[in-house]
Amino acid sequence: MKGKNILVTGGAGFIGSHLTAELLKTGNLVTVIDNLSSGRIENIREFESDPAFRFVEHDVSEPYCEDFDLIFNFACPASPDAYQTDPIQTTKTSMLGAFNMLGLAKRCGARLLQASTSEVYGDPLVHPQVESYWGNVNPVGIRSCYDEGKRVAETLCNDYRRQNGVDTKIIRIFNTYGPRMRVNDGRVVSNFIVQALQGKDITVYGDGSQTRSFCYVSDLVRGIILMMEKDGFPGPVNLGNPGEFTILEAAKIVIEMTGSKSKIINLPLPSDDPTVRRPDISLAKSQLGWEPEIPFREGLKKTIEYFEKVLTKG
Ligand code: UDP
Repeated sequence: MKGKNILVTGGAGFIGSHLTAELLKTGNLVTVIDNLSSGRIENIREFESDPAFRFVEHDVSEPYCEDFDLIFNFACPASPDAYQTDPIQTTKTSMLGAFNMLGLAKRCGARLLQASTSEVYGDPLVHPQVESYWGNVNPVGIRSCYDEGKRVAETLCNDYRRQNGVDTKIIRIFNTYGPRMRVNDGRVVSNFIVQALQGKDITVYGDGSQTRSFCYVSDLVRGIILMMEKDGFPGPVNLGNPGEFTILEAAKIVIEMTGSKSKIINLPLPSDDPTVRRPDISLAKSQLGWEPEIPFREGLKKTIEYFEKVLTKG
């Protein structure tokens, strides 16, 4: 992708800022809009001197009007801690954000890629998760604002495509980690690394037998761009690393890799916490020729180095 006029919503967030970096590196004009609710100016500071970059502080739940070739709709708090802080706003961001960005895409003829999530599978009864599985989502629980918000964003994409001919694409992002996660993000990888580096107790929720599959952010960004470039394939497509770990295993690996003296403690399991999660990536492989290249320990090493720097800076 080169020479395109691109909008990245949520571009000051963790994944959005890595995506923005890659799009600028390959010679595109990038406008980031973000309301900085969980995104951070520090994530985009290094782009500010680039004339191809522009930041607009704006909330996607309000309409936005300008012409673009491509829209990446990534705006939404994504860690359970962040999206449960103001659940009504989370649903608004996903639903009205998709609605506003699809309206914009319709008006200016842009292709739109919607960031969806493995959360659309809820606590899955099919394992690993394939795109054809409709999921097992609680519509009235504490995770519903995010899960149902993203599900309706998917619905809107498909209806704008069928009804209005908008060129939409959906990716379902599985757990992703890497530099630029916030110290207090609340997600498991950043929590464990920060706790281990600070010698604090490692907080395993429940007995730690629940599983997740962790994708390093650069692998994910490569998949996102391949999906945006691919013609004639609206998705949804899973993007994630199929390597599956229990949360207890992840805690032990982080302790080993940081050489930490922290001990593991068990805290109550939050409600509706999915018991298993692993993407089936056959579709991404066949349609996009994509699969992750960075194993968990290698990505963890880079992420630990990042947090070491952040924590020593204070
Ligand atoms: N988790 C944990 N300790 C923490 C943070 C999370 O044991 O300090 C668990 C959480 O209960 C879940 C898994 O790790 O089972 C992944 O949680 P995360 O918040 O990263 O994202 P999720 O995949 O649940 O959306």
